[in-house]
Amino acid sequence: TSFGSAASRQVIIELHAAGYEAVFVGGAVRDAQLGKKPLDIDIATSATPHQVKEVFRHTIDVGIEHGTILVLMHGEPIEVTTYRTEATDSDLRHPVVPSLQADLQRRDFTINALAKTVDGELIDVFDGLKDLRQKIIRSVGNPGERLKEDPLRIFRALRFSSVLNFEIESETLHTMETLAPSLRHVAIERIKTEMDKLFQGQNPSRAFHYGREIGLPERFPELFAAFDSLDRYTPFLHARHGFAAMLAVTDTSATELARYFKLSNEEKRFLKQCEEALAIRTQRAFDPWDFYSYPTDVLEVVEKIYCTNHEGHEISNQQIEQHKNQLPILQRTDLAFTGNDLLKWSGKSGGKWTSDWIMKIERAVVYGQIENDALAIKEWFINEISCEK
Ligand code: ATP
Ligand code: MG
Repeated sequence: TSFGSAASRQVIIELHAAGYEAVFVGGAVRDAQLGKKPLDIDIATSATPHQVKEVFRHTIDVGIEHGTILVLMHGEPIEVTTYRTEATDSDLRHPVVPSLQADLQRRDFTINALAKTVDGELIDVFDGLKDLRQKIIRSVGNPGERLKEDPLRIFRALRFSSVLNFEIESETLHTMETLAPSLRHVAIERIKTEMDKLFQGQNPSRAFHYGREIGLPERFPELFAAFDSLDRYTPFLHARHGFAAMLAVTDTSATELARYFKLSNEEKRFLKQCEEALAIRTQRAFDPWDFYSYPTDVLEVVEKIYCTNHEGHEISNQQIEQHKNQLPILQRTDLAFTGNDLLKWSGKSGGKWTSDWIMKIERAVVYGQIENDALAIKEWFINEISCEK
């Protein structure tokens, strides 16, 4: 059985032809072994980035400082990374020669330290296959050294426990607990990336459980307080839904969460909408104006979050879609009048009152109190302003 796409195999074959070593590595090898279709394929090679660029016509420097070159093969982007080694004190006295063995040795967990040749032969230096079969996450080498080297690995272990639904080997777990405080030194962006994957995994509860075991909620209350009680939301967690659920279980606001996790503007906007919609849903069921005001994904996740905690009738995603479809308009520009019409109809000149009235009419249309028709709106408007006088 062949591994990887035709294009990725071609990359390896051409590297071989140029006299270099090259193999498949990392998550793709692991996932294929689990019978899952790998997403992005990584290749490790003995060629330096410069040499990789000499071999291929179309390349992009995506992370040359990390030794990574993107090769475009038949239009398909393939990541090619030069064998990496970790420089430590002992290495300075006995420099580690870049080799596949050394590259695999610097990887985080045995299941991630598998490689595969283009002929489909598995290279398994650290018994990763055995751990994969037994569903175990285990540090490559001494957990104390390896987790100290890069404390993000503590969080990556949690992430993989969710994504793969694997157990964390006990010495690794114990060391994670001891070293958990050093997560403080890890860039939050890196944690956030793992957090997204954790939320989307097979078994986020498992990661929350391990997170509690290593003391994350107490040690990092601003980041992980939610690990104490997120379990019941796991059936519908997704990347950003996870953060939305955190709103419901802690008293951290959307703004604070966005700041702590350095969320993107888009994620922040989503989270703030969830916060608003959740406040509404806590008071009452959604009404047409809510279906009009909030995007489908906000309504869906807020409905689920709310109903997870409260008795009452939960509306399905399908029903949300139906409510949206029944709306007379989908956005303000769908209204059958403009601000200019209001000036014409009232004989007044423009001002703040115009936008106030546009909003009033918009609401009346959305609630079905007026038809979205210029004549009907004109009549309603003239009547209302005369009543106001
Ligand atoms: P995914 O399918 O989610 O991408 P992955 O295993 O490919 O999972 P990546 O974060 O893409 O994970 O990393 C690719 C590979 O690089 C890993 O399989 C692992 O071998 C290695 N790796 C990544 N991050 C680290 C790290 N912090 N320390 C050591 N090795 C790492
Ligand atoms: Mg990957």
